Amino acid sequence: MTMVTRRGFVAGAVAALGTRLAASRPGTAQTGSAGPPDPQLVEDLVAANHILVDQGVLDGYGHVSARHDRDPARFLMSRSIAPELVTAADVLEYDLESEPVAAAGRTSYLERFIHGAIYRARPDVRAIVHSHSPSVIPFGVTGVPLRPLYHMSAFLSGGVPVWDIRAAAGGDTDMLVRTQALGRALAQTLGTRPVVLMRGHGVVVVGTSLPQVVFRSVYTEVNARLQGQALALGGGVTYLSPEEATRAEASIAGTLGRPWDLWKRKLGGR
Ligand SMILES: [Zn+2]
Repeated sequence: MTMVTRRGFVAGAVAALGTRLAASRPGTAQTGSAGPPDPQLVEDLVAANHILVDQGVLDGYGHVSARHDRDPARFLMSRSIAPELVTAADVLEYDLESEPVAAAGRTSYLERFIHGAIYRARPDVRAIVHSHSPSVIPFGVTGVPLRPLYHMSAFLSGGVPVWDIRAAAGGDTDMLVRTQALGRALAQTLGTRPVVLMRGHGVVVVGTSLPQVVFRSVYTEVNARLQGQALALGGGVTYLSPEEATRAEASIAGTLGRPWDLWKRKLGGR
């Protein structure tokens, strides 16, 4: 009897695990919360929203998300409000189909599908920023490639792909990533890169942490501004070589806590 009982228990546990894994697969609906996230993660997510407004990356639009610390098949993102107004109470849990687990009447960002699709396609990604970062826009519409011209943006080396929603949708749209299919197409163009430009719209930046994705978002904007200025001067522009970029990125990787701490402090008591 003991054996049967134990076998029954193990079978039940395996079945439960199988259900959990199946729920993580594409196209399978999930129910129930992953549980309360780490309060520090939520605090950092709120800070990331405010920092990116201060740094001119986000304005009344755009959004930041972080993968849930308890379940890789979930992510955290604010309900649909301006990033500067986000508080911990506004943070909702989403599944990888970009649907809120318990919205309780709160509305979600129209373009939430960007996030679920990328978290599904990129297990390495733990944080995502979608913005309309102004200086990058020209690089999405001219065919001039965005390239790293100084060490702070070395992560741009290797190419910044441009995603065209018209090609993905097969015709004209309102330019918004409103569906899972468009989210998947965008994630496909991002591929393994840290940044993808969206033609006539904005940019998506991904990272392994909130401090990294904030750093990358800020310096993508700064590099775009500087590159536009350098190109306007009319001479040839010398960009970082691939080797320089590799070395610079490795050196800066260990210092990301410095600007993150500074930017958080500058938020004051917000
Ligand atoms: Zn947008």
